[in-house]
Amino acid sequence: MLKKFSPDLILDSIYELNLKDLKDKGIKGIITDLDNTLVAWNVQQIEEPLKDWLKTVKEAGFKVCILSNNSSGRVEEFAARAGVPAVSKAVKPRRGGFRRALEQMGLETSETAVLGDQLFTDILGGNRTGLYTILVTPLSQKEFFGTRIMRQVEKILIRKLKEKGLLY
Ligand SMILES: [Mg+2]
Repeated sequence: MLKKFSPDLILDSIYELNLKDLKDKGIKGIITDLDNTLVAWNVQQIEEPLKDWLKTVKEAGFKVCILSNNSSGRVEEFAARAGVPAVSKAVKPRRGGFRRALEQMGLETSETAVLGDQLFTDILGGNRTGLYTILVTPLSQKEFFGTRIMRQVEKILIRKLKEKGLLY
């Protein structure tokens, strides 16, 4: 049960992602969370480092799809400017959104990684779908109020995962 919350990899940020390692694992696509993973919560502007990162990832041959529980207006407008497809109102950790993202990219579960900052949505959903899951540190403390509550539960979960050696 706890294993479903255990990410395959933990990074400080998306910028630490080693694309060569991903390729070696047979990964061809990245499903990425938006809020507090790519940008701070509800931030719409795309700064240079993120632009460069997206360019590098795409040039390395990876497909990218944003998967967010946030509203379609927010997510689709951002994704259009980022030049990547998106699935909004994804209801993570439910699998439906992850599957829609896989369809968008035309990839199999075994070829796809998930990037996200939350155990209860990104990591749990990614693991349930059978994807390679990567947890990043949230970019800011500012969050949707429901998320703030879940963070308290997440803290307890993180302690449990560490006790069991499922998180380092
Ligand atoms: Mg997030």
